[in-house]
Amino acid sequence: VSWRRILGHEAIVTSLARAVAGNRLGHAYLFSGPAGAGKKTLAIELAKALLCEGSGKARFNACDQCHSCAMIEAGTHPDYQLVGRPADKVELPIETIREMSEFLTLKPARGDSKVAILDDADDLSIAAANSLLKTLEEPPTGTVLILISTAAEVQLTTIVSRCQVVRFHPVPTSQIEQWLRSQDVDPAQVQRLARMSGGCPGQALELAEPTLWNFRAALLEHLSNPSPDAVAFAKKWVEFVEEAGSVSGPQRRRTALCLKLVIDLLDNALRASVGAPDATFDADEARAADHLAKRLGTDRLLTLTDRCLEASKQNDMSVQLVLVIESLVDSWSQAVR
Ligand SMILES: [Zn+2]
Repeated sequence: VSWRRILGHEAIVTSLARAVAGNRLGHAYLFSGPAGAGKKTLAIELAKALLCEGSGKARFNACDQCHSCAMIEAGTHPDYQLVGRPADKVELPIETIREMSEFLTLKPARGDSKVAILDDADDLSIAAANSLLKTLEEPPTGTVLILISTAAEVQLTTIVSRCQVVRFHPVPTSQIEQWLRSQDVDPAQVQRLARMSGGCPGQALELAEPTLWNFRAALLEHLSNPSPDAVAFAKKWVEFVEEAGSVSGPQRRRTALCLKLVIDLLDNALRASVGAPDATFDADEARAADHLAKRLGTDRLLTLTDRCLEASKQNDMSVQLVLVIESLVDSWSQAVR
């Protein structure tokens, strides 16, 4: 029952099941793939399957009924830890790794295994990464540690070489659509969210956030305005991004989602400009795309899209957010002049 909760990634589940059946499960895994792909969900499900007391280990399928399964859901299982970067920190501090390592060395309280999931492994400080290495070099018996990272390439090679790397690929759009219909999402948005998610169910859900679509409306108005006020719009955008949280992580995440919305908007207009509008659009959407296409034309739309992709890269590379947004909006006004 339990694995059905995981969207896509059937090959990963199968290979983990084989490893468990053959008693070949590793001590350390690095789950890598884009944000929202389902890495953490799968890691938690793996922890549940390994610690479940109801279904028997051989079945590798959490029963979702026993005390152990319930405690993992609640985050209170004594042999399970899910840790990550604290909300008010820019980096994942060494203290977090020390506590996690200590947890792993203690004898299991209930069965014979322990599972730790380290989220936000991209944000490990140098000291934390070095401390983690020690645990990876001498993993306590019966323990499984799962690191969650957007890409193996951002980790120290010494860390990667001590982990089994599991790469998460995009989930098919049709599967995401089907799943979104069971979530608390406006049914009219389902197709569009699935298309924009890039194969990451978590991103589809993030994009369903209503404030983002208010921002998108403001964005459309800005792009359609014959004499746009770049300074005012950039200010509005920065404020919106800062509302996501006081630290860089959530702000960059929101910036990435905003940029996704802009690129999608420009892409819609681009399709309209070459006479191939998206058939899934409703009337409002089609009208907006058409209007933008007529106002800007194919060449300018391509230029604007290029600038957004560049801004997206800068955001990933941690360029100061105010600079990324201001220079993007400024270059738009030059492009549409
Ligand atoms: Zn169970």
